[in-house]
Amino acid sequence: MMLDTLIKNASVIPMTERGLVLYGTSVGIKDGKIAYLGPDCPEAAEVIDAKGRVVMPGLINAHAHTAMCVMRGYADDYTLQSWLFDKVFPVEARLDERAILSGAVLGMAEMIRTGTVSFSDMYFCQPAVAKAVERIGMKANLCNAVIALGDGYDFDADRAVIETRKLLEEYGNTGAVRADVAIHAEYTSPPEIWRRVHEWAVKHGAITHIHLSETAKEHEEAKERHGLSPAAAFCKYGIMDTPVLFAHGVWLEDEDMRLIASHGGSVAHCPVSNLKLGSGMADVRRMKDHGVNVCLGTDGVCSNNSLDLFEEIKLSALLAKGEALDPTALPAYDALEMATVNGAKAQGRANETGRIAPGFDADLIMIDTLAPHLRPIYDPIATVVYSAHGSDVCMTMVRGRVLWDGNDLLTIDIEDALREVESYAMPIVRGE
Ligand SMILES: [Zn+2]
Repeated sequence: MMLDTLIKNASVIPMTERGLVLYGTSVGIKDGKIAYLGPDCPEAAEVIDAKGRVVMPGLINAHAHTAMCVMRGYADDYTLQSWLFDKVFPVEARLDERAILSGAVLGMAEMIRTGTVSFSDMYFCQPAVAKAVERIGMKANLCNAVIALGDGYDFDADRAVIETRKLLEEYGNTGAVRADVAIHAEYTSPPEIWRRVHEWAVKHGAITHIHLSETAKEHEEAKERHGLSPAAAFCKYGIMDTPVLFAHGVWLEDEDMRLIASHGGSVAHCPVSNLKLGSGMADVRRMKDHGVNVCLGTDGVCSNNSLDLFEEIKLSALLAKGEALDPTALPAYDALEMATVNGAKAQGRANETGRIAPGFDADLIMIDTLAPHLRPIYDPIATVVYSAHGSDVCMTMVRGRVLWDGNDLLTIDIEDALREVESYAMPIVRGE
């Protein structure tokens, strides 16, 4: 069998076994899938020499609002309430499809350059964004969250509902682009709306994406409203009976964690956003002890300012250690697992991506370890988690196709993308 591509001489972190690193190893790719992993060099149409480089699975950003890239650096250092109601919501009311697309493309450019291959995204205009994801060649689980506030709410007329139906019809739950369904949060819709979103999840086998217990206020107010925590309320109405991806989980209690774990749910930990908005620190160690599938997300760039998942990987390890006063609380391998294997599981892609193993899609990245800040190397896993930055990624490949080769983004015209953001979207954000 002639391979399409062979990456040879690599230090491979396959994420198939705790701590495993394969030195001087080749990864062979055929028809977008990993067809060979081992010490030999089978024949291939194209050969990439990875000497001095680490090859690992591409990263998975399990909670993003990618198009918010148009608001990078626009609203910093506000309280969460005034950030959201005075800054973000008024801008979002003005953003049109073209502006949103420009932000989504800029965000994808950043994710590809910093090693992310797949993302779970909650935002507007997702049918248009889906086309851009397909053209650019990434993977994404897309949803537009239902927010049902006020007496005049009409489910069938809601833009999020119309877009969700369109996504479910066109994409379903297989392939590179997938349709998720979403409840924005416990406090932005009543249980009868949750049930309607859940009906989609049942009918289409879709994942339900929800913001959960991000702030203490949200968590405590739910108890007044429902007599239950947000997680327990979602559980009571059956929302956890299908796969659920919760974002944040900062204020989860032990019983919430038990409920999420026993239903096979996932929590996307977003440490940078939670710290920047002063929301608190999620207890990842405790969630993992309860058996919750914890993955990583950046949240939107308006509350993070970066889509570089390497920041979340390192920070999640440091926060867990600091919180537990125990440096063994979250070892490097566990942090890396959250950004790869666990993210894939949260996206319903556990047997498709997040690992380097025969039969998996060739979704992988290469890290240039020749730079001074990455030397010497005793353990490539520690190097990647504690020393590397997204800017050290010198190749990003999705389904065997190179999207970033260390010099150029091969499927995005970055000049054009920046012009769109700066000349079209920025004036809208500023309200000009
Ligand atoms: Zn969010």
